[in-house]
Amino acid sequence: MKVTYIEHSGFLLDTEKEYFLFDYYKGDIPDMDRNKPLTVFVSHKHSDHYNPEIFKLLDKYPHTKYVIAKGVPLKYYIARYKDMGINLEESVMSVVKNNVYNISLFNGNEIKVTTLKSTDAGVAYLLECGGKTYYHAGDLNLWLWEGESRKYNKNMECAYFTELEKLKNIHIDIGFVPLDPRQESNAYKGLETFMEYTDTDMVFPMHFWGEYDIIKMFIKKNHIYKNKIKVIKNKGQVFKI
Ligand SMILES: [Zn+2]
Repeated sequence: MKVTYIEHSGFLLDTEKEYFLFDYYKGDIPDMDRNKPLTVFVSHKHSDHYNPEIFKLLDKYPHTKYVIAKGVPLKYYIARYKDMGINLEESVMSVVKNNVYNISLFNGNEIKVTTLKSTDAGVAYLLECGGKTYYHAGDLNLWLWEGESRKYNKNMECAYFTELEKLKNIHIDIGFVPLDPRQESNAYKGLETFMEYTDTDMVFPMHFWGEYDIIKMFIKKNHIYKNKIKVIKNKGQVFKI
């Protein structure tokens, strides 16, 4: 298995049998084997999680499917591709929060996709495939801010715990979870809480706006997780697992 860090919250997961691309918005997508199925996930419409360029992948990789949270603007692209003779609608599955989807891939494998409700916009994805479980948070995080009211931060905590509760009793092999330096003194809390409340083997921090050092700082403070947190050092870095 291989994980490529593209940029921000964008990752390519290569399970050997299939590819999963999460929240691509910029950076280089590695060349892939066009005979293997590719599933592209979009957690929500924010421009740091969604770039309509992803639809071009269908030209190059015919076995591509899209799993896209409701609310992401699609109409324009569906019409544009129709003009080019490509029926994008056939390849796109629009998903809503708190639901389960079984999707058949072109290689005959089935994947199960469970959606959670983000504490920001859209959904987080839990993906089960080939006996493994993967989690991509999108913008589901403990968004505590120094400048916010106590009430706001309290409600945020409640909302985050409600979602983490859904991951209880689920073993996660690989998680992709925000670690955002903009939250200042609150920056570590989302990931710390995630590590504490879920049974996750390995986590790739994301959404750190190019401030790679925050990962090392997080590990320094949370030494118990040092074998579980992957240290990302640059764009395009490939992790063999
Ligand atoms: Zn974001």
